Amino acid sequence: MNFIDFGFDDDLMDGIDAMGYETATPVQEQVIPSIIAGKDIIAAAQTGTGKTAAFLLPVIHKLITQPHEGHKINCMIIVPTRELAVQIAQTLDGIAYFTSISSIAVYGGGSGSLFAAERKALASGVDIVICTPGRMISHLNMGYVKLDSLKYLILDEADRMLDMGFFEDIIKITSYMPKQRQNLLFSATMPTAIRKLANSILTDPVEVNIAISKPPEQIAQGVFYVYDAQKAPLIKYILKQKEFGSVLIFCSSKISVKQLSEELKRAKFSADQIQSDLEQEKREQVLLDFKNHKLKILVATDILSRGIDIEDIDLVINYDVPHDGEDYIHRIGRTARAATKGTAYTFVSEKEQFNFRKIEKLLGIPVPVQAVPEQFGAGPEVNVNSERPKKKRNNKFKKK
Ligand code: AMP
Repeated sequence: MNFIDFGFDDDLMDGIDAMGYETATPVQEQVIPSIIAGKDIIAAAQTGTGKTAAFLLPVIHKLITQPHEGHKINCMIIVPTRELAVQIAQTLDGIAYFTSISSIAVYGGGSGSLFAAERKALASGVDIVICTPGRMISHLNMGYVKLDSLKYLILDEADRMLDMGFFEDIIKITSYMPKQRQNLLFSATMPTAIRKLANSILTDPVEVNIAISKPPEQIAQGVFYVYDAQKAPLIKYILKQKEFGSVLIFCSSKISVKQLSEELKRAKFSADQIQSDLEQEKREQVLLDFKNHKLKILVATDILSRGIDIEDIDLVINYDVPHDGEDYIHRIGRTARAATKGTAYTFVSEKEQFNFRKIEKLLGIPVPVQAVPEQFGAGPEVNVNSERPKKKRNNKFKKK
């Protein structure tokens, strides 16, 4: 689903574009329409699913398009840690860059001057406050924070907040808010304590569950950090090293499927392709040949990553990094089906490192790095904190 389909405000769309978001993630697809419709939400979603934008985008859209009081606190996002507060504030800065929405992050620690700056912003009113519970209570106790215009309350990583003993603080903070407001609760897990919190705070919530599948343990995963030009030679090298039964290679675009499949055929591998430009009949024939082991190597786009049941695949190679973690799990899940062992390699170029980090975050573990054989020369430097590649914009910058 494209973001334009949510009917977002133009300035917000500029922010989404600048952030490089192209299509909505599953949690965004599920919660954004309900938030726009004014519903309370309880969502089971982990970090890495795009949950931050899932609540920020519709709330910012509503603040822009619906009447609200200026110089008042309209939205409060309560989070367990200072790191999460900073991360959300940064995402918000990016998304809301072209709008006039104001925000501040308020968290523990820091100097007295930081507290004074927070105090000033809170007292004069700011559209969105992102805070840790303890720090917010300190400010509320001083009497200058007015929450009587608050419309949106968001609790992020609520299970962690409860683990850290913040239940009473959260309830206390909400006691300063109007009863009439929209509440959104996000939590990675849903223990009983979360249900209790939800019962005290939410009204008739829509429940959303983004279950993140984990790859089966018997899949041996590996990542090769390579330059784009090293990918095709490396794939041919790997395919020659061992007698694999069936090999499935995923590419993100139809063009790379065509090019790679032709290249493998020229190198006399038993390879063919499946992508949406091919006639249905041809696709079915190729798939049948692959299932019957007449064809050993199949190069395909993501049309083959979900649902299709092909057994006995020994090796899956991601020729390029899949769009998101769910696609990764679906792709590599094509191997090691029915309890057999399988291998899944991913080729990651310099500009794909950022996306791959997001996938590893979702998996919760780093994927073991495989050495690129010496004859291919050195690969690119691996940056564990790689940043999103800068997107070229046809600049229509607007002043804030
Ligand atoms: P989160 O789960 O909110 O921590 O988000 C994980 C990462 O995904 C962050 O780096 C976001 O900027 C990014 N992200 C969120 N939504 C999208 C999207 N629709 N497309 C691409 N990346 C996204």
